[in-house]
Amino acid sequence: MADRAVARETLRLLNYRSRNIVRTEISRAWNEGMAESIRAGLESGDIVGDLVVQRWWTATDERVCDVCGPLHGQTAALGEEFEGGIAAPPVHPSCRCVVSAVVLDADEARAYREGGVN
Ligand SMILES: [Zn+2]
Repeated sequence: MADRAVARETLRLLNYRSRNIVRTEISRAWNEGMAESIRAGLESGDIVGDLVVQRWWTATDERVCDVCGPLHGQTAALGEEFEGGIAAPPVHPSCRCVVSAVVLDADEARAYREGGVN
């Protein structure tokens, strides 16, 4: 009987760990793909603007952690790190954050360069 309980708990933990790894690696692949598509869009001219930056998005729910929460809405220059020296999601296992490109118009680009947009 005890063996069955141990086996059941082992299976539950393996399942949890597997899902955790899959979620984290999907997040990593998504964000690397996003960064690559931004680079390709700039190179091909499909993304045009006075300035293109990257913006951090959390899931904006009660499960967002203390590390990711303050990053929500922050912008950083392409290829640069966000506050705290964080380059890109995932920050931790099962991180649900994403980064997207934000194309700024001339006024927004000026404000960004002067430190007024974040
Ligand atoms: Zn996160």
